[in-house]
Amino acid sequence: MHETYGNGVVIMKSIQMTGVVCNQCNKEIIGDYLRVKKEWGYFSDKDTQIHEFALCEKCYDMLVSTFITAPVVEFKKEVI
Ligand SMILES: [Zn+2]
Repeated sequence: MHETYGNGVVIMKSIQMTGVVCNQCNKEIIGDYLRVKKEWGYFSDKDTQIHEFALCEKCYDMLVSTFITAPVVEFKKEVI
């Protein structure tokens, strides 16, 4: 689902009132997920555009498995 405005800006809308849908597999996300929102700047080809998408955990795992360098993983200390 997306809206295109007169000036050519396309804003992807993945978050709906009924819940969050994964942009990769198009299934409603149950549980935790990755949300990316990027406001592109002047030194890109997408200046003034804001891109946003969500990935379920399974699609996140598939995506990062294609990375040459794995994501940095830190462990939060439990706060009691
Ligand atoms: Zn997914």
